Amino acid sequence: MAQREDYYKQLGVQRTASADEIRKAYRRLARKHHPDVNPGDKAAEEKFKQISEAYDVLSDPKKREVYDKFGAYSETMRDAAEQGAGRGGFDFGGFDWSVFTGGAGGATGAGQQSGGGSFRDIFSDLFSGSRTSAQGAARAQRGADIEIPLALSFEDAINGLTTNIAVARNEICSTCRGTGESGGVQITCPTCQGTGKVSSGGGFLRFDQSCPDCQGTGKRRPPCTTCGGRGAAPKSESVKVRIPAGVDTGSRVRVAGKGHAGLRGGPPGDLFIVTNVAPHRIFTRKGDNIHCTIPVTLPEAALGAKIEVPTVTGKAQLRIPPGTQSGQVFRLRERGAPSLRSATRGDQYVEVKIVLPKIIDEDSKELLRQFARRNTDNPRREFGLE
Ligand SMILES: [Zn+2]
Ligand SMILES: [Zn+2]
Repeated sequence: MAQREDYYKQLGVQRTASADEIRKAYRRLARKHHPDVNPGDKAAEEKFKQISEAYDVLSDPKKREVYDKFGAYSETMRDAAEQGAGRGGFDFGGFDWSVFTGGAGGATGAGQQSGGGSFRDIFSDLFSGSRTSAQGAARAQRGADIEIPLALSFEDAINGLTTNIAVARNEICSTCRGTGESGGVQITCPTCQGTGKVSSGGGFLRFDQSCPDCQGTGKRRPPCTTCGGRGAAPKSESVKVRIPAGVDTGSRVRVAGKGHAGLRGGPPGDLFIVTNVAPHRIFTRKGDNIHCTIPVTLPEAALGAKIEVPTVTGKAQLRIPPGTQSGQVFRLRERGAPSLRSATRGDQYVEVKIVLPKIIDEDSKELLRQFARRNTDNPRREFGLE
């Protein structure tokens, strides 16, 4: 293994630093050098790997003890150190890390990591299971799904649209075709330093598993220089997305196979577009139905009328019967939003609101007085106010 800077120096902490100080230092640096924050920046990626490696060791009291003693850390050294002290704690051989890493969305930013978090917890946010391995077998693994929000206008949600969305996804490395290896002769695996095993966790919980980079053999070809041995590399891709007519806020549109690349020949994850629909000046959605309020005049309401109302599919005729009251609701069949589940549409509900004109001229006032003399019915009679 190449000679590297001291782990403490890499994290910028004193040799006497507490576990808390080490964790804080790592989290601060990890945010800064996270490949999601620095796409395509090889130096940042390398730095991120180095600080992660430093944190892996220094966050584990036993590994740290070994490191402090020998100035380096390896599984063999730990075993040697432990033979004197006796093995403590649990050893979960072949523990399946995908329990923790599966489904972690690759689209989540570096700033979303929360809680204390071990090296693996934080690491898995990014690689989403790329380091997992069951019983050390070279197991194909499905890539993680990606979720991307998309803001839509009310009209676009009703009519649907096709658009291109920039998606940052891990793609199979074209140099090594996803194997993570370069050509050339086999070397001692740098990840496990030839032991075929890696371990992580801390304190009483330590997890041993077969080294995922050499499948437990301890030997491998040198890692691919393009992807650093991961087999996948982050890449921004413009993905054509068809948003079906009728989506609403919170609809999830699936684009199969456009999530992160699978590992070791596994299928890719899916891309999910989560729509967020802007409000409309006139219309309100309730499921597939659309509601709106339309003003009508006093003569229209009293005498009945045929009025024009807007709908999402254009103008429609609405017949208002004589004696229509303010607040009455009429239904226009199948003039609502298209249904995502069937070929039908929702309905449009029109609430009428009687709007009185400003009556200024004397003639109109006299007409209303005449009207009042002829229509003496008191609408408040039922309240006992007569
Ligand atoms: Zn290995
Ligand atoms: Zn590669």
